[in-house]
Amino acid sequence: MALRMSTLFLRTLREDPADAELPGHKLLVRAGYVRRVAPGIYTWLPLGMRVLAKVENIVREEMNRIGSQEVKFPALLPREPYDATGRWTEYGDNLFRLKDRKDADMLLGPTHEEMFCLAVKDMYSSYKDFPLALYQIQNKYRDEARPRAGVLRGREFIMKDSYSFDVDQAGLQKAYDAHREAYIRIFNRLGFEYVIVQADSGAMGGSASEEFLAVSPHGEDTFARDASGYAANVEAVEVPPAPEVEVTAGPAHVEDTPDTPTIDTLVAALNENHPRADGRAWTAADTLKNVIVMLVHPDGTREPLAIGLPGDREVDAKRLEVKVAPAEVAAFEEKDFAAYPMLAKGYIGPGVLGEEKASKIRYLLDPSVAVGSAWVTGADESGKHVLDLVHGRDFTADGTIQAAEIRDGDASPSGNGPLRLDRGIEMGHIFQLGTKYAEALGLKVLDENGKLVTVTMGSYGVGVTRAVGAIAEDNLDDIGLIWPRHVAPADVHLVATGKDEEVFVKAEEIVAKLEATGVEVLFDDRRKVSPGVKFKDAELIGVPTIVVVGKGLADGTVELKDRPSGERREVPVDDIVAEVRREIRPQQDAEARL
Ligand code: ATP
Ligand code: MG
Repeated sequence: MALRMSTLFLRTLREDPADAELPGHKLLVRAGYVRRVAPGIYTWLPLGMRVLAKVENIVREEMNRIGSQEVKFPALLPREPYDATGRWTEYGDNLFRLKDRKDADMLLGPTHEEMFCLAVKDMYSSYKDFPLALYQIQNKYRDEARPRAGVLRGREFIMKDSYSFDVDQAGLQKAYDAHREAYIRIFNRLGFEYVIVQADSGAMGGSASEEFLAVSPHGEDTFARDASGYAANVEAVEVPPAPEVEVTAGPAHVEDTPDTPTIDTLVAALNENHPRADGRAWTAADTLKNVIVMLVHPDGTREPLAIGLPGDREVDAKRLEVKVAPAEVAAFEEKDFAAYPMLAKGYIGPGVLGEEKASKIRYLLDPSVAVGSAWVTGADESGKHVLDLVHGRDFTADGTIQAAEIRDGDASPSGNGPLRLDRGIEMGHIFQLGTKYAEALGLKVLDENGKLVTVTMGSYGVGVTRAVGAIAEDNLDDIGLIWPRHVAPADVHLVATGKDEEVFVKAEEIVAKLEATGVEVLFDDRRKVSPGVKFKDAELIGVPTIVVVGKGLADGTVELKDRPSGERREVPVDDIVAEVRREIRPQQDAEARL
């Protein structure tokens, strides 16, 4: 049935909503797709529901195609399974926790590994039951610290999450590959530019985890790629350890460097008072900066961590976060310095850092700090630095950490030229979980020899509501949204203009004919609304094909407008159904081929 603007639950807005930052978000609200209820919580209106259903269907079709079966778990969940895996605490403030009337702890599911795992444990017991893949399209709840850009980062949002179950790694790899293919098809069909990047996968490494990022300047993720096809989220870039170099520096020596608590002041003082024998100027890259942060573990305990890295680089907060998770990173504050009197703020050096040293603070070095290389660094006394301090000869650390910022132009870990950085929105994530959840929840089955084996799992997510937001951000102009055909709320937006009753009679006739051939119509049948307002609304709403039935009817024509290009042409009224079908056909053909 055609959506009729006369009765459609819709009020378009001429003004941008005050709380919307991104252009697509503004237009989704102005054009009446979504409305905000609270930060990160949105209502979907009829037009939005249409787009959402189309995105969901693309996802559903591709999941079904790889043999994954649709289920639906509750969003309201008991605490116990999440306790068993440790996530009740590990999830921290992001988890919505609540109590029922009997004072039992409950939560709103942020993701459902536990529930799927337990369901399979309940029902299956033999290797013969596998492989198995299940999915759901369902609401998720995360109390995000920074809900952002409308549906792009919500606190309630829809995710397609699927899980694969296998009895061996070969099976898991196959399931992972099938999901990867399915995701490629999904994102090709959704129609935005995306990249597949290596994701941080904790201890597992390698290609055990990949993300699908929509390339967008509005993205919160930064990814790095080189010309040879290497691509990784910066969180996952593994800087290769610098090869050992021959020691050329003389013995280390402490120098007075008063009032040099920052790298800039230090470099200036070095060049002024301690010029190098070979005449090369000192730069920030010659200094070793020691940054102290406070790790806050899920149980609330606090533990300082020291990171040593070249002075011309910053610690990247996101890279650090994934390396120390589930601990969170907090600032090392003034009161913390008071508890560690051996730390000379602004002049901290490896002399006191390390589990075996005076501070007992764990000390991790950036992998670019080569064994054999000489550094200028803090001498652990206010106003003093040590020069020619050689890694491996004069100091060591407790290990390395991949937490320094990655920069455009850095050498690629693949060895193939420089890295280029770009921004993206994480749209999907595929992950070989392995046995972590199955172990925690006791999902074991009998193998061919009657022995118990732990089931190995994969977990795969697509942000469904986020996809609507990302498509909107990528398909718009100054006057409104421009939906890709296959997710547009209708195939054609038919506008009837004027006061002439005959226009409306004819328009109704065309609508009926279009619908009879399976074309979805959004019909502006409003009687007391000016043509100008109707055109503005049509442009704002963004259905890619607009038909105007109005003045031209006297000469037997209607206007066919292509929203993306703005091109318009007169079409004989008797040809309009065929013309509209021709406009939307290429898309349908393309889908049939998939
Ligand atoms: P992000 O890094 O953006 O917070 P995530 O890594 O926490 O996402 P996953 O747990 O991998 O997300 O969830 C799978 C998918 O769900 C993501 O790829 C993303 O598309 C979507 N998603 C995650 N968080 C949100 C959110 N707050 N709002 C909308 N979609 C989300
Ligand atoms: Mg993710």
